[in-house]
Amino acid sequence: MSQDSEAYDLVVIGGGPGGYTAAVRASQLGMRVALVERETLGGVCLNWGCIPTKALLKQAELWSQLSRGEEFGFALSDARFDWHKVVARSRDTADGLAQGVAYLMKKNGVEVYAGMGRVTPLRSVEVRDGEDAVVHVLEASHILIATGSTPRSLPGIEIDSERIISSRQAMVLESMPSDILIVGAGAIGVEFAYFFNAFGSRVTLLESLPQILPREDGEAAEELRASLERQGVAIETDARVQGVQVESDGVHVDFETPAGTREATVERVLMAVGVSAQSAGLGLEALGVRLRDGAIAVDERQQTSVEGIWAIGDVAGPPQLAHVASAEGIAAVEFMAGRSRPGVDRSAVPSCIYSHPQVASVGMSEEQAREKGIEIKVGRFPFAASGKARAAGETEGFVKLVFGSRYGELLGGVVVGAEATELVGELALGLRLEATYEELLHTIHAHPTMAEGIMEAAGEAFGEAINI
Ligand code: NAD
Repeated sequence: MSQDSEAYDLVVIGGGPGGYTAAVRASQLGMRVALVERETLGGVCLNWGCIPTKALLKQAELWSQLSRGEEFGFALSDARFDWHKVVARSRDTADGLAQGVAYLMKKNGVEVYAGMGRVTPLRSVEVRDGEDAVVHVLEASHILIATGSTPRSLPGIEIDSERIISSRQAMVLESMPSDILIVGAGAIGVEFAYFFNAFGSRVTLLESLPQILPREDGEAAEELRASLERQGVAIETDARVQGVQVESDGVHVDFETPAGTREATVERVLMAVGVSAQSAGLGLEALGVRLRDGAIAVDERQQTSVEGIWAIGDVAGPPQLAHVASAEGIAAVEFMAGRSRPGVDRSAVPSCIYSHPQVASVGMSEEQAREKGIEIKVGRFPFAASGKARAAGETEGFVKLVFGSRYGELLGGVVVGAEATELVGELALGLRLEATYEELLHTIHAHPTMAEGIMEAAGEAFGEAINI
């Protein structure tokens, strides 16, 4: 066993979008940085999450568009897809980007160690190889935990990675499942329901709460539900799984709905009921690092209960999103470097669902604003009234904005539609700059664009919309 010892200003454990972003920023701030990664640089987001699924979803969208060929004046017959190539393109996209992260580490002088990182009681970081032997010991002034999360299941239902799968297996299936039942209609459940349905699987989507995407605006979730049902996805809300049994002819699922007990036999079951923080096995218990609901508890600077140990991203709890992890990573290292800055603003975190139509929101929903007792004005603009949307054949969905009624300040917004995940950037900036409805309305939006919907919805809230 070869074992060396090196000293760093910062050792980051985990090379996902939180960890690698923090490492780059720390290097920019003049720190000597090491990053420990047990698998592939880029983490779940780049290798098994955001990026490969967005490739798959784009492919599903293109495939669906082909079936609308006649509407666009095309005579397309005998169109076919090659499942292996569909999956391979998504893997190529992820692999290329992972190499890009390796390049970024090199360019910024971040030393990458392959292996499992573990914090010792003396507050150094051990790097262990596949045989669990310590191969490096890294001394560190600061340690940043960015180990992410792992898919969870329900009590009594084990993800066997064959018939009962997580998103990780769902994106590399050898063949398209003829039918699939998805448990959980959050981001993962909805995106995979869209994806498999678009390629022809029979999809059943079960959600235990009364609406799909339970954290989103109710109208937006309803709009997406209606669209997915039109596309052929069978959706059951208020549905509880009673039992899942793997048999020779498929997976038997019993579930309870408001209309009674149902059963289904499907080729695969995809568990999409959330993720658990990967906080175990890092040596944190011995140091007394405090946890909250299994995630590492941090203060507004991302520092844990133990000085010099910091945590960001999924391992530090919700919202468990790549862009939150990156923002927390930058904030954490800037605090380490003594910068004076606020913590990450959790009131303006965009949420993006990449089904078709897409759903994207930021800030307060109408329900949340009303629950807080805020007097609000709500503006809506349906894409059916947008010239660009009509030209593109993308008339599903709407923009819905929430403003304070007294000062007209933007409180939040949600977009359902073809470019929703791009449009939400304008709303996030609007929130950050404390924009009023007039500022959104008087910003000249290019014509024709989907973004005009934001200007129109702002106007509609105060009776000044032109095109509706
Ligand atoms: P999630 O928390 O977003 O959704 C889980 C869903 O499962 C919820 O709607 C929940 O009510 C439901 N659920 C829980 N128990 C259930 C049960 N017994 N029966 C039926 N439904 C049940 O989690 P996810 O979709 O698994 O995604 C995991 C994480 O990854 C989340 O933090 C998510 O935000 C993130 N993610 C984000 C994106 C994106 O931003 N586009 C995409 C994928 C994943």
